[in-house]
Amino acid sequence: TSLFAAVELAPRDPILGLTEQYNADTRSKKVNLGVGIYYDNEGKIPLLKAVRKAELARVEAAATRGYLPIEGIPGYNQAVQKLLLGDDSALIREGRVLTAQTLGGTGALKIGADFLKRLAPQAKVAISDPSWENHRALFEYAGYEVISYPYYDAATNGLNFDGMIGALESYPAGTVVVLHACCHNPTGVDLSPGQWQRVVEVVKARDLVPFLDIAYQGFGDGIEADAAAVRLFAASGLMVLISSSFSKSFSLYGERVGALTMIAADKDESLRVMSQLKRVIRTNYSNPPTHGGSVVAQILNTPALRAEWEEELAGMRERIRAMRAALVAKLKERGVRRNFDFVLKQRGMFSYSGLTAQQVDRLREEHGIYAVSTGRICVAALNDGNIDAVADGIAAVLS
Ligand code: PLP
Repeated sequence: TSLFAAVELAPRDPILGLTEQYNADTRSKKVNLGVGIYYDNEGKIPLLKAVRKAELARVEAAATRGYLPIEGIPGYNQAVQKLLLGDDSALIREGRVLTAQTLGGTGALKIGADFLKRLAPQAKVAISDPSWENHRALFEYAGYEVISYPYYDAATNGLNFDGMIGALESYPAGTVVVLHACCHNPTGVDLSPGQWQRVVEVVKARDLVPFLDIAYQGFGDGIEADAAAVRLFAASGLMVLISSSFSKSFSLYGERVGALTMIAADKDESLRVMSQLKRVIRTNYSNPPTHGGSVVAQILNTPALRAEWEEELAGMRERIRAMRAALVAKLKERGVRRNFDFVLKQRGMFSYSGLTAQQVDRLREEHGIYAVSTGRICVAALNDGNIDAVADGIAAVLS
């Protein structure tokens, strides 16, 4: 019998499964809030003007397609470091920061996971409860046992901070702790600056390994503000890993643009770490692709394009905020008694709406509104054309 004969059918991705169901729905007024993508007010994935200009310039320059270095485009990696740590970072000047261009944020997490696994094969990985659904699977596939720390508090629609700190304090030294630096996916619930400070203290005292995931920089309170947690960790003197994704902030999902950044104790350590990281990359996919990274580097390093991108990013951030406010107001208008003000405090593309799995089922079956069974809705998929229908649907399933 063949090797493949025993292969079992894997469960399908729950969120992609939801989109398949949505696509097959023949109702004309359906709304898909199950996705993890920013849509504009017309319900389209935007192609940013800054991206279009950088792409045209690139085509015009007839850039050839040789291999990139294993760690990617130098100008890209430098720009990523400045986005994360600020234009005037002493750590960068001291040569303590190393960055490799990766295949999206997912690629950065995987490369980081593989790198750490070789250093400390016994370490466990702790993720938030709940977390981005691929965190657990990704680290398990990299060979780790994955545990989770308390995070979301359903009773307050907010953060279970005491639970989180208690768990971190209980972990053995060397445990890898994955933290969402801003705009937590799936809940939208973030830590305050004071709470971040406390997390840094505990991570330091317990000798844990912080792995910050920043996939929505610029979607919360702004590019600089959203990097606050990253900068606190960087300033703490700890070794830090950071995975960046530009899928959302440049609307370049399919181009797979991300980066893994690490902060080392000194320049010599940084060079040694980079030399090992390059082996991990070389044996996985050799080197990253040229297009997306070149476009992002061109934008970040050209003042006029940079300004245009920042404006477009602010536009996306403000549109999401406006949709949060409109949803809360429209639910009130419809006489919904439950207080949804927590939606205004949440940050980023998502909201844990507090709707139960049964209410989500009813939304889909009776109103053609698709959300994740956990109650996660993508606020960035709301627009002027569908928000009334969504408010009607939610009001109906709550009454
Ligand atoms: N990390 C988090 C928290 C995410 O939400 C996502 C994307 O949804 C990623 C990482 C992966 O990003 P990318 O699509 O760039 O691989």
